[in-house]
Amino acid sequence: MNTKIIDGNKIANLILEDILKEINFLSDKGVSLKLSAIQVGNDSASSLYVKQQKKICNKAGIEYELVILNNSITEAELLVQINKLNSDNSVTGIILQMPIFNGIDAKKIQASISMEKDVEGVNPLNMGWLVYGRPFLAPCTALAVIEILDSLNMDLCGKEVVVVGHSDIVGKPLSLLLLNKFATVSVCHIATSKAGKLEGHIRRADVLISAVGRPNLIPGNWVKEGAIVIDVGINKVGNKIVGDVEFDVAAKRSSFITPVPGGVGPVTISILLKNILKAAKWKVR
Ligand code: NAD
Repeated sequence: MNTKIIDGNKIANLILEDILKEINFLSDKGVSLKLSAIQVGNDSASSLYVKQQKKICNKAGIEYELVILNNSITEAELLVQINKLNSDNSVTGIILQMPIFNGIDAKKIQASISMEKDVEGVNPLNMGWLVYGRPFLAPCTALAVIEILDSLNMDLCGKEVVVVGHSDIVGKPLSLLLLNKFATVSVCHIATSKAGKLEGHIRRADVLISAVGRPNLIPGNWVKEGAIVIDVGINKVGNKIVGDVEFDVAAKRSSFITPVPGGVGPVTISILLKNILKAAKWKVR
């Protein structure tokens, strides 16, 4: 099989080029963009994501503000912080860094982010519009996977698409976006594995998307000949970052495959900018 490795950086740069034009256009009209991120405590993965956000915002000319709060903060105090950002006219988008460990109901806080500033698509109203097939701000990683599939000019109508992982930020919203494209979607998760049925599902997949976070969960020889493989997983193994799929073997069988790193990751971060731009345009509509 003549496999093509999907270049996530190239896709991300194309998105970025378009976004920059629109941001410059808005800036000429006196509209400035600002992303505010709230981080509770100092989780290392979260700190890494914060750095990436800052870097990409700088590149795009978007102001970036990071509010770091102590782990001892209460739910009520955190709600006050969010409401402050909700009512601040200079703020275009709000991100609540996850995870939050100290007994705070993260869902309650996410639901308090104004729908129009919810650039990670975690508010139930934004999730609801996704169910209606009319997404406004949807989760960035789910959108990134769709962007990658679109870049392949792939018609998903009637295709067997298997999503492994059913989290609120990746697997579930992605399944809805795929259904909106009339794909036949199977969503697998931990119970699918425990029931010994993961392999059977994966072997049928024309498009396989894995978002689990377990290195080599999916042996390459499970991948159907000619399938498209999108690996969302990010796993540290020694000094290396790898995905969920056994890359070398899967790459020989698939028609297209995303590498880790350099696949879904860079596209996700550029989709964040796309969501910020969407929020800004909604504000000045
Ligand atoms: P999560 O922990 O919220 O969800 C994990 C999912 O995997 C769950 O649905 C769980 O049931 C399933 N699962 C766990 N073990 C399994 C097994 N043995 N077999 C089948 N399914 C199993 O994770 P998440 O936040 O959705 O992230 C998933 C992965 O994607 C992580 O590696 C994360 O770092 C990565 N991620 C990457 C990006 C990116 O931009 N590339 C963005 C977000 C998350």
